[in-house]
Amino acid sequence: RMAARAPGALEARVPEPKAALGRSEVIDDLAMVRRAGEALQIDNPYFRAHEGIAGATTVIDGRTYDNFVSYNYLGLNGDPRVNQAAKDAIDRYGTSVSASRIVSGERLIHRELERALADVYEAEDCVTMVSGHATNVTVIGHLVDRNDLVVHDALSHNSIVQGALMSGARRVVFPHNDLAELDRMLAQIRSTAERALIVVEGHYSMDGDVPDLPRLIEIANRHRAHLMVDEAHSLGVLGPRGLGIAEHWRVDPREVDVWMGTLSKTLSGCGGYIAGPAALIDYLKCSAPGFVYSVGLPPPIAAAALESLSILLAEPERVAKLQVNSQAFLAALKGHGLDTGASIGSAIVPVMTGSSIVAARVADVLFGEGVNVQPIIYPAVPENGARLRFFLSNLHDRQQTDRVAAVVASCIAFSRETAIDLASLAS
Ligand code: PMP
Repeated sequence: RMAARAPGALEARVPEPKAALGRSEVIDDLAMVRRAGEALQIDNPYFRAHEGIAGATTVIDGRTYDNFVSYNYLGLNGDPRVNQAAKDAIDRYGTSVSASRIVSGERLIHRELERALADVYEAEDCVTMVSGHATNVTVIGHLVDRNDLVVHDALSHNSIVQGALMSGARRVVFPHNDLAELDRMLAQIRSTAERALIVVEGHYSMDGDVPDLPRLIEIANRHRAHLMVDEAHSLGVLGPRGLGIAEHWRVDPREVDVWMGTLSKTLSGCGGYIAGPAALIDYLKCSAPGFVYSVGLPPPIAAAALESLSILLAEPERVAKLQVNSQAFLAALKGHGLDTGASIGSAIVPVMTGSSIVAARVADVLFGEGVNVQPIIYPAVPENGARLRFFLSNLHDRQQTDRVAAVVASCIAFSRETAIDLASLAS
């Protein structure tokens, strides 16, 4: 039997409801985007499940779409040779290495992959980690500290920003690809720090443009700054053989202090890598938290990446085809009078829409027409930088890119005619 209680005692013990976890401004933003989507009757374009390999086409809910949303730049994800390499690695090593590399997770396949990646950059050594994002965070966070300076491009990937924040170094941002401004900033602040690290991307994933690497190297050397280049979207994409931004500019890759890249795009796996001098790689392997305290790459992923890399090197015609497709698509869009921003026509082509609502609306209409492209809307980009972003691959063909460019143009023209309606719906 329950003991008699003083009136009100139970109520007194019921705690206040807990405030929802998460950042309230993000929760508010998400709710706003959802409300706008509902008001405009736009289907949620996120988390759509693809039913197979996403190449030039993909299947969603049983329907086949022209596909422009995947990083499968050279069509290597799902290549039978890549799949076989992953299966063989499972048979030999299992699906996990079951430990951090430094203790008992080291496998021959790791070193084979790292040797092959180091060769791409003519570097002494290379180290791989289980996530591209975590590679930037842990490596930048571990290379510099509060006495130092990290200077990065305004359009840098979130992982670069997070790494810079974690390092505790002073973080300074220069306007996108504005190297005169970078030079001016360094002249002003370089002497305030012990070391300076400039971080850029070899190929920007929102705009499809590239930095002037020879000039960056000259600026970095003149200011005694280290230069780190993120090649996530460059490997397999830039340069005649797809070796990246150094090959694109025909510069010696050893002029860059730290090369970073991901296994999740052209190399059809997941994970990140750093290539550079042996002393740098040794330091990271022995002390970078995201490497030392994290499991080694799963063998099937390492094998898939290694096989993808050897196909990339052996079949440069894939790179050429990707570049032809990208140029043709860019020219077709421009021919329809569309704004493709700063894209150089190398795998990543945005179509600027001027507002998030138009981007979301046009992407929704295109989906109905059988074209799968992602709208990039505020807050991922500034509101007036909203866009559709197209990823090309060697698997697309001219007929497809011409047809899709025409459909995009007519959907955008239609959305302009109905712009007043859209604006009133959103308010
Ligand atoms: N760097 C850049 C420039 C990226 O675009 C990305 C992801 N798209 C990453 C790093 C993180 O790579 P991952 O997705 O392989 O973790």
